[in-house]
Amino acid sequence: MSKIFDLVVIGAGPGGISAAVEAQLAGVDKEKVLILEKSDAHNETVRKFYKHGKRVDVDWNGIKAEFHGHLTFTQGSKEEYIKQFDEIIEKYNLKVVYNHHVYAAHKKEDGIFEIESNHELGVIKSRKVVVAIGVMGKPNKPGYKFPPKIRPRLNFNLDKVCPGEKVMIVGGGDTAGEYAYGLVDMNLECDVTLNYRKSEITRMNPTNKEIVERYIKEGKINSRLGVDVENVEATEDGKVKVNFKDGSSEVFDRVVYALGGTTPTEFLQNCGIEMADKWTAKHDPKTFETNVEGMYVIGDVVEGAQSIAVAINHGYYAALDIAKKLGN
Ligand SMILES: Cc1cc2nc3c(=O)[nH]c(=O)nc-3n(C[C@H](O)[C@H](O)[C@H](O)COP(=O)(O)OP(=O)(O)OC[C@H]3O[C@@H](n4cnc5c(N)ncnc54)[C@H](O)[C@@H]3O)c2cc1C
Repeated sequence: MSKIFDLVVIGAGPGGISAAVEAQLAGVDKEKVLILEKSDAHNETVRKFYKHGKRVDVDWNGIKAEFHGHLTFTQGSKEEYIKQFDEIIEKYNLKVVYNHHVYAAHKKEDGIFEIESNHELGVIKSRKVVVAIGVMGKPNKPGYKFPPKIRPRLNFNLDKVCPGEKVMIVGGGDTAGEYAYGLVDMNLECDVTLNYRKSEITRMNPTNKEIVERYIKEGKINSRLGVDVENVEATEDGKVKVNFKDGSSEVFDRVVYALGGTTPTEFLQNCGIEMADKWTAKHDPKTFETNVEGMYVIGDVVEGAQSIAVAINHGYYAALDIAKKLGN
């Protein structure tokens, strides 16, 4: 690891993988391209936050997918999506180092970046860096406090849900909808409630909206739409008492928040990247290069949650610019 890479990509999600593939295709020596991933597998966001069997939509978040570069994916289940990326990594023989959590990358006086992490691989150096770490490292939390006693029952995905539990899902977007009807479809005999502060479902795609509205009508999902949560407290037997802003309360075994993720501003600032606003890293809209010359941001980290296709396209444009500037 003492050599200097041409390109180090931080994060092995769709954006990061796309950047590494496209750099190779644009002429960057594949031996000099490295991806560093903090978890033990690629696409951690998909593995951790998508429910089992979830349909991975190509059009997502109101964004119609168009692929500008060489990489695409086809609509299928979460498991099929992961398989497609297993095959991409194998096909292009990408070098990915897993369990490698990066804290920042700093440009030294010689113009070379040093990548800081908690790993014993020595200092990793690179001429160019792509930051593709997404936003789900820090899922959004509601404004109220989580009492310590019930913290294990306040979750951000469905992993901990047990059969027969009474569960409230909080959120108004596609993820909340998919969690709510997905939980019903898992046949775990759970009692499922969907809570969103607005009474109308406006942020879901038509498929998810139709299913959620139908399940509410059929009594498969209880609706708590149109009312916000004031706070949550622990009951004597350790369950979650949800106090709503309309004065009502209800006790649940578990509450799952599907509120998206937070732009990792601390990471970006540690790298010297300036923010255009609270959510948006300053970047060139054509190349995704930041104010730190040679350092790029792509995917969700650029300006908050987008889609897989958007991340893949960002990777393409960043890689083209990187390859050109490296002299290819
Ligand atoms: C529940 C849910 C459902 C969704 N469904 C769809 C859908 O059906 N279709 C669609 O197009 N989009 C969907 N999205 C959005 C989509 O997942 C994102 O837009 C996309 O994953 C963004 O890609 P990315 O490469 O920018 O980041 P991510 O996919 O988030 O990948 C970032 C990677 O970086 C790694 N990482 C983070 N920090 C570090 C660090 N410090 N050091 C090293 N590695 C790090 C992470 O472990 C992760 O592997 C969904 C999102 C959620 C949360």
